[in-house]
Amino acid sequence: MESAATRLEAIEENIARVLKPARRERDEITLIAVSKTHPADNITPLLDLGHRVFGENRVQEAQEKWPELLERYGEVELHSIGQLQSNKAEDAVRLFDCIHALDRPSLLKALAKAMDKVGRRVPCFVQVNIGDEPQKGGCPIAELPDFLAKVRETDVPVAGLMCLPPADIEPAPFFALLAKLADDNGLEGLSMGMSGDYATAVQLGATHIRVGTALFGARG
Ligand SMILES: *Cc1c(COP(=O)(O)O)cnc(C)c1O
Repeated sequence: MESAATRLEAIEENIARVLKPARRERDEITLIAVSKTHPADNITPLLDLGHRVFGENRVQEAQEKWPELLERYGEVELHSIGQLQSNKAEDAVRLFDCIHALDRPSLLKALAKAMDKVGRRVPCFVQVNIGDEPQKGGCPIAELPDFLAKVRETDVPVAGLMCLPPADIEPAPFFALLAKLADDNGLEGLSMGMSGDYATAVQLGATHIRVGTALFGARG
């Protein structure tokens, strides 16, 4: 079986290879280790290696797994990467350091209220429905400027834009489009790229890549 160290090293090599041609530096990119569905025992090897940025997609699962790990390992940056229900906003604001799927006014309202109540401002990526897929979350591209204006009327900090491109087609055009939308709207953060396409995403400007399978192996 491959070790966490081997997998992490392979990912770092793949990132390193594309940095120079893309004229980018390693410290411009945050590698989020997506530990969803994996038990604490699978996470500790990465923590022992010094990795400190993790992503989960379900609030309840994160609440069950992380408090003990945080106690043991101290400072860890936790990212909420999945669709978030408005009734989980307060729990998410308490636990997570960054939220990647702000995509609708009702969730914006819930997060703004939760941040006021908890007294904590958690940066949020606005998710864009980049492939215009009805079954996926994300703000429609046409509505993005209006939605960003709404977000900016609140105290919810905007980290940038996030996307999940359609499966099984070349993702590069979607990454390039997300980068253009961010640029058009004066935003710097770009959360894009997963196990199969993080190197492409880095080439196209990703500041946050969300990598699960390539780091932890297949999910059960
Ligand atoms: C699960 C998930 C990932 C990680 O996917 P892998 O292909 O396992 O790297 C990234 N982003 C989101 C939103 C996810 O739900």
